[in-house]
Amino acid sequence: MPDRRRYSFFKGLFPGDVLNFSKRSHYVREIMLERIYPSKVILPMKMHYGVPAVPCVRIGDTVLAGQCVGIPEKGTFSVPVHTGISGTVTDVKPITLPNGISTRAVVIKNDNKRARLESLKPRSIMKLSATEAINIITDAGICGMGGEGIPTGAKLRRAKKEGVKDFLVNCLQSEPYSTSDLTAITEYPDYVVNGAAACTRAIGAKRCFFLISEQRKEQREALENSIERLKDKFKDLTFDIKLFRERFPQGYYRLVAKALYGKSLGARDTLERTCGAVLFNCSTMLACWEAISDNIPMMSRIVSITGDASGIHNILVPIGTPVSELINSIGDFKASGGRIIWGNCLTGIEIQDPDNTPIIKLTSAISIIRRQVVPKTPCIHCGLCSECCPMGLSPNTIYEMLNQGLTQKAAEEGARDCIACGSCSYICPAGIDLTAKIAAFAGEGRVIEVNSLLYNSGHTASEGELIYDPSETVGGSLLEDYGGQIEEDGRDEEGRIVLPFDGGKKV
Ligand code: SF4
Ligand code: SF4
Repeated sequence: MPDRRRYSFFKGLFPGDVLNFSKRSHYVREIMLERIYPSKVILPMKMHYGVPAVPCVRIGDTVLAGQCVGIPEKGTFSVPVHTGISGTVTDVKPITLPNGISTRAVVIKNDNKRARLESLKPRSIMKLSATEAINIITDAGICGMGGEGIPTGAKLRRAKKEGVKDFLVNCLQSEPYSTSDLTAITEYPDYVVNGAAACTRAIGAKRCFFLISEQRKEQREALENSIERLKDKFKDLTFDIKLFRERFPQGYYRLVAKALYGKSLGARDTLERTCGAVLFNCSTMLACWEAISDNIPMMSRIVSITGDASGIHNILVPIGTPVSELINSIGDFKASGGRIIWGNCLTGIEIQDPDNTPIIKLTSAISIIRRQVVPKTPCIHCGLCSECCPMGLSPNTIYEMLNQGLTQKAAEEGARDCIACGSCSYICPAGIDLTAKIAAFAGEGRVIEVNSLLYNSGHTASEGELIYDPSETVGGSLLEDYGGQIEEDGRDEEGRIVLPFDGGKKV
């Protein structure tokens, strides 16, 4: 019996209320997925949650599309970096990304030959153990494409170890204007479903749920049809589509836990332990199946060029493409005179140097937003920010506390729970940038934990905390020499997962 409920959380921003979601409804039929072949790529060694990879090419080297140009150091929590174009390495230089991360970057000039590694072809043997499948995903450099950036192989290993029962695929993409995940579903539904099913099997879960807005009828049908086509190959799994109300932000794991399982997660609670579930972005699932079935590493992604000052385009972009080349490819940027946002219009970061800012693995959108003069006044205590905060915070109160240096009080007020969704800043009629202040404070709190996770330096897990260690990321063929302890599965017939190899092909 299909689940007919509509899930959601309290508060948030609603379509038709304050945000223009309307541009999202008609895009797919009108605009085909476009492609771009940039003149160069700038490949940062740290696009993921973890320590940076190390460049393994030198200036002057020629490289082929699909080639690994950055490799994790032995024993570190990291993922490799691959190029999506062929050409010559022209530079290996330090770079600072708009999110403040400083790392080295490999710059490759395109030779326009589109020459690929020979190994980038469909895998002939599709009988893989769970460990083999997860190692393929690790070697492909895949990390959470919805924005979290956690290496997917590590997250799968952890979910397997935790014995989760439900595999959740986040198809909710609730940010206004952005449609890259939705395009991934309409263009490659079988890749998304195959990837999700393969990963569900790999971690030993039995139920695979796709979470999608009730208004995304086209994507829902695409998923339903794909499940129908593929379900016989995954008879051991149960598939279902869970419909959610359209509102922003919807896909954050703590809001999903509340909506789907009725559980409120604290900052240190995990979906895995509290709900027995794990959540992955649908574009990440597409990348996983590309790696498993076609042997293609993570070297490109779909990016929405969007916003109220541009048309809507969804473009298949080699990772590392400079933002300026991407927006110039659609041709209508300069006329608009808008601000360029690296990411979504509510949560992204405005950039000033699009020539030297690359698309990274986590960039789902470049938003071009009209310049508006918002009158700045003191708080008028309208309460709108509290009304919309999905985490149930009082942003104006916390903002005041932080302004007065009352950090302890702000923390007690829940400031660390801020998920930087941007809703409060967006809605504030006084033009106060509440998010920047509160999210920066919440982020400081997390840095300490992140560092200890990343470097695994004697940090002891407190109860309920999810710790990743380097051996969970490193392993597999490409990284053989760099591998830590690779977890070995039983190789008996029962332990092997069989991955069908006739899912929808990419063109
Ligand atoms: S940015 Fe933080 S404080 Fe503001 S609405 Fe979102 S979660 Fe609440
Ligand atoms: S929305 Fe702005 S003006 Fe209204 S209470 Fe919040 S901070 Fe004050």
